[in-house]
Amino acid sequence: MSDCIFCKILAGEIPSAKVYESGRVAAFLDIGPMEKGHVLVVPKRHWPTLADVPAPLAGEDRAVWDELFDTVRRLAKAALRAGWAGANVLQCNGEAAGQTVGHLHFHVIPRPAGGAVPPAFESGAARYADDAERDAVAAKLRTALADVLRDEGV
Ligand code: 5GP
Ligand code: ZN
Repeated sequence: MSDCIFCKILAGEIPSAKVYESGRVAAFLDIGPMEKGHVLVVPKRHWPTLADVPAPLAGEDRAVWDELFDTVRRLAKAALRAGWAGANVLQCNGEAAGQTVGHLHFHVIPRPAGGAVPPAFESGAARYADDAERDAVAAKLRTALADVLRDEGV
């Protein structure tokens, strides 16, 4: 994609501090880190969001997806091995979720010991009015997930 910042980084047209690169995936430091060591893990295919990942996954798409997730996992592991006390994994789909770059990416954010839990990861930020509302939300998700599974032939 010619107007995509991450495609330009992957093509070497914009510099980045690379942490990992293969034929399918790259990981580089975020230009606006939430914490030192904040890395973005990016597939070399221009999939805008998780909803754009082809399904069912097969062939090269499957290989890219597998390596993408493996790289997220390995970077979280590497952050711990390098001495950070923890790591968050964050991924945003759509503007409403805070996505600012329309090329699928996972944030791996190493966390030092003794820091406060970041507000975005605190539970209890939202409350269901009552059990009925909670059950309705769960039912809505179950129905939508059943639709996705049917669409994907699972
Ligand atoms: P999002 O909010 O879409 O999940 O995250 C996009 C991330 O990309 C942001 O954290 C932002 O700092 C980072 N970013 C935006 N432009 C660039 C860039 O040109 N280089 C690098 N390394 N990171 C970028
Ligand atoms: Zn792109």
